[in-house]
Amino acid sequence: MKKKLPHSQDSALARSSGGLIKRHIFPAGTLLFKEGDPRECAYLIDRGEVHITERTDRGAEKVLCILNEGEIFGEMALIDTTPRTASAITAEESEIFVMPRQALENRISGLDPIVSLLVSLLIERYSVTRKHLPESIKQGHIGDFILKVSRYENLPDDLLRLYDTAEKREVARQELKLEEELRAGLDRREFIPYLQPIITLPGLQLAGFEALIRWQHPEKGLVFPDQFIPVAERTNVVQDLDRMMLEQVCEILPVLLKKAGPDIFVSVNLSGINFETGDVVQTVAEILRKSKTNPHNIKFEITESALIGDPALAEDVLQGLKALGVSIALDDFGTGYSSLGYLHKFSIDTLKIDRSFVMQLHDNGNRGLDIIRAIVGLARNFKLEVVAEGIEKERDVVALNSLGCDFAQGYLFSKPLPLSDALTFIETPPSWT
Ligand code: C2E
Ligand code: CA
Ligand code: CA
Repeated sequence: MKKKLPHSQDSALARSSGGLIKRHIFPAGTLLFKEGDPRECAYLIDRGEVHITERTDRGAEKVLCILNEGEIFGEMALIDTTPRTASAITAEESEIFVMPRQALENRISGLDPIVSLLVSLLIERYSVTRKHLPESIKQGHIGDFILKVSRYENLPDDLLRLYDTAEKREVARQELKLEEELRAGLDRREFIPYLQPIITLPGLQLAGFEALIRWQHPEKGLVFPDQFIPVAERTNVVQDLDRMMLEQVCEILPVLLKKAGPDIFVSVNLSGINFETGDVVQTVAEILRKSKTNPHNIKFEITESALIGDPALAEDVLQGLKALGVSIALDDFGTGYSSLGYLHKFSIDTLKIDRSFVMQLHDNGNRGLDIIRAIVGLARNFKLEVVAEGIEKERDVVALNSLGCDFAQGYLFSKPLPLSDALTFIETPPSWT
C-alpha cells in the first residue's frame, strides 16, 4: 500500500536558519526531506540514525542506506536546487546539524581568498563536468541517474554567486602578488616606523611614541598598513614585519632618548599571529639584547584577538614578555570581545581606548562619555593606565582629562611622523591651546 509521507522539514529549516548552521533535536520518525522537495539544506548527524529511502515503482519505501553519527547527507543541496531524489527520515531521536546553502556561501566568502577560490572552482568544475557529460553516457543507465540529480541549465541567482569565480580569481591573484611583494619588500628593507606622539594628561607633556609601520614602496610610494597588514597576517609575513619594526625602533631609540629624556617609551604593535608560533619571547629578548635596549623604554600593543584563541598560551607569552621588562598595552579596547571579566587574568599594564569611542564622545546624549567613564573606572580597579586614541578635537581632550585618562594620542597633537619630524617635534613641541 502506498504510504503517505508527512510534511517534510527541509524548507522550513532553511527559512528559519538565517544563513547559520544550527543543531536540532528531531524525534524518531521525523521526515527531514522527501523525494520531490526542492533541495535546501545539507545535514550532519551528531547523534542518532537516519534512513535514506526511495519510493519503489509499487509505491513502497525502500531503505537505500542507514546513516549514523558523523555522516553527512543531502549535501547536493549545497550546489543544486533541483528536486530531491530520495527521502530522509530519523529512525530514532537524533541530533543533527542543519546546513542551509546560504551558510556555505557565508563560509566560503569568509575564507582566505585562495581557499575560497579553490572551493568555488571545485564546485564550479563539478557542476560543469556533469552538465557536459557526453551523450553516450547521458543515454546510459548511469547517465540517467546523473542527469536526474544534475540539471544546471536554470541555476537560481544564489547558486550562481557560488560559481562566480571570476572575481574571486582576481582577489586571489592580487593577494598572491601582494604576498610576494611583501617578501621582496622585507628583503629590501622597505618598511619603516612612523612615530606618533603620546601625550600625558593633564600635563600635556610628551610621554612617548607609537611606532606605526609604513611601506616605502618603490612604485606606489608610501603605503599604509591597512593595505597590507591583513594579507601579512593571513600569510604569516607579519611576524617578519613586526620583528623588523622592533629592530628599527631599537635602532633609533638612543636618538629619541637623547633628545626627549630617558623615560619616554615607544609602543610597538605586535600582531596576534606572533602568539601562535611560540618563539616571540625569545625573538624579542634577542633583539633587545643585541641592541642593548633598556626594556623599560619598550611597550607592546596587542589586540584582544591575540588573547582569546588560546588564553593560557597568550598569558604565557605575556608573562614571558613582562619578565623581559617591557610593558604591555591592550589595543583597540572595546571593539572586540571585551568581556571585562577576563582583563584581570592577563598581564597587561595599559588599556588603549579605541578611537571609535572617542569619536562618539559627544554624540547621543553623551553615551560615549559614559562608556569611557566605565572603562576608566574598570582600569583603575585593575591598576591599569589608560590611553585614549584618535583625539582630533580640543574639547575631547578636556573631557578625557576630566574622566581621568592618563594619556592622549591623536591628530590633534600630531599625525604619525618620520623620524626627522619626530625629533623636531621633541625639540619644538607645538602648542595645543
Ligand atoms: P592602531 O594600532 O589602532 O593604530 C592607530 C591608527 O590610528 C594609526 O593608523 C594612526 O595613524 C591612526 N590615528 C592616530 N590618531 C588618529 C586620529 O586622530 N584620527 C584618525 N582618524 N586616525 C588616527 P595606521 O598607522 O594607518 O595603522 C593602522 C593599523 O595598522 C594600526 O591600528 C595597527 O593595527 C596596524 N599596524 C600599524 N603598524 C603596525 C605594525 O608595525 N605591526 C602590526 N602588526 N600592525 C601594525
Ligand atoms: Ca596600536
Ligand atoms: Ca588602536
